[in-house]
Amino acid sequence: MLRAPAAVYYGQGARASIGTAAASLGRRALVVVDPFLAKTPEFREALSGLDGAGVAVQIFSGVVPELPTDSVTAAAESARGFAPDVVVAYGGGSALDLGKLIALLLSCDGPLSDYYGENRVPHPVLPIVAVPTTAGTGSEATPVAVVSDPDRELKVGVSDPALIPRVAIVDPDLTIGAPPSVTAYSGIDAIVHCAESYTAGKRRPDWETRLPVFVGRNRMSSLLALEGLAAMGDALPLAVADGSNVEARGRMAWGSLLGGMAFGSGGTHLSHALQYPIGALTHTPHGMGTGMMLPYVLQACIETTTDRLAQIAGALGVATDRSERDDAQAAIDRLDEIGIAIGLPRTLAEIGLTRQQIPRVAELAAGVTRLVALADHEVTPAFLERILDAAFVGDRSRLTDTSTNG
Ligand code: NAD
Repeated sequence: MLRAPAAVYYGQGARASIGTAAASLGRRALVVVDPFLAKTPEFREALSGLDGAGVAVQIFSGVVPELPTDSVTAAAESARGFAPDVVVAYGGGSALDLGKLIALLLSCDGPLSDYYGENRVPHPVLPIVAVPTTAGTGSEATPVAVVSDPDRELKVGVSDPALIPRVAIVDPDLTIGAPPSVTAYSGIDAIVHCAESYTAGKRRPDWETRLPVFVGRNRMSSLLALEGLAAMGDALPLAVADGSNVEARGRMAWGSLLGGMAFGSGGTHLSHALQYPIGALTHTPHGMGTGMMLPYVLQACIETTTDRLAQIAGALGVATDRSERDDAQAAIDRLDEIGIAIGLPRTLAEIGLTRQQIPRVAELAAGVTRLVALADHEVTPAFLERILDAAFVGDRSRLTDTSTNG
């Protein structure tokens, strides 16, 4: 299955198409942009492209990190009087998600909380042109937007195919200025999108009913995920070490786009379910948490996903000439090495989680049923606690005793 933008423009210089892409969808563009990026020459170039294409523009540059719900509602209200007919979202995942949510709130009545969860958006929303400057969340291609609701303990998502941008314009040059920490955390998250959609369980669709947003691993998501991993495996450490490495930036932007399309139908699973409570308790970035958890989650699931992990070893260029099981282990080891190379913290203790919090984290993560249901392994709070215990001290060997993996 494939859910994707109607048009994807990828390549150096692709940003020059922002004006014509927006003009093909409307005459009045609300441009949502990160406050830092709003001052860059590349953004000014995008505005002149819109002007040249005859599109009237209103700019909203008040993106608040983590997107608290009241900031999203206020942003939509401030745009209502302008009556845009297209939204251009320009920036990292936060700006892109805000653009999606403004498009939603300007198209559908009711508070944002009406749309939390999956498949809750009743009709199409304003068309969105998404221009990512990080690589990345893949938000330019996904049916997801994530917000922080002060009434909820964990971040919440609005997931609906209606949120998929109509046009994704992915110009790797726009990511050149992203600082090393943003490059590292958003980049490892893109790798996690690919690795988790590739190792997600396969579910038999009920073709006669409305399909869930995330259907589990499928042929199309697998194709995209493996290609994304092949592109990003070596590139991420290079892009973090030297942000001006154009080739590494290009491979990251490409892989992150593919990761978004892969998880946009295939879904993600336990690294994401665990990050939600870990992020909430430790106030650490999303990608830091998902990246830290990935090797532990894959290690815990190695018996049920050996074949796919072995394929991942091939994509990462670390296949052995020994057994499939050895290849699977080599893939996990390589993903862990990538985390080390980009400076991910090595233990959950290091990011401020306490041992006493582990049972609560496991319980909260087990409650993220949309994600837990996609793991290709039986999941209980005890299983999640074992993963957390190993990650707490940074010792994956605690998960290699398969007799305790159930
Ligand atoms: P971000 O958008 O929060 O940006 C982080 C920082 O990087 C900001 O200060 C921004 O100004 C800066 N930045 C971005 N691009 C830059 C550039 N080219 N040069 C210099 N600085 C730049 O970071 P992100 O990692 O892209 O997005 C994180 C958000 O995305 C989180 O809220 C997360 O929940 C969400 N997310 C969404 C999806 C989805 O499918 N919608 C998937 C994963 C994560």
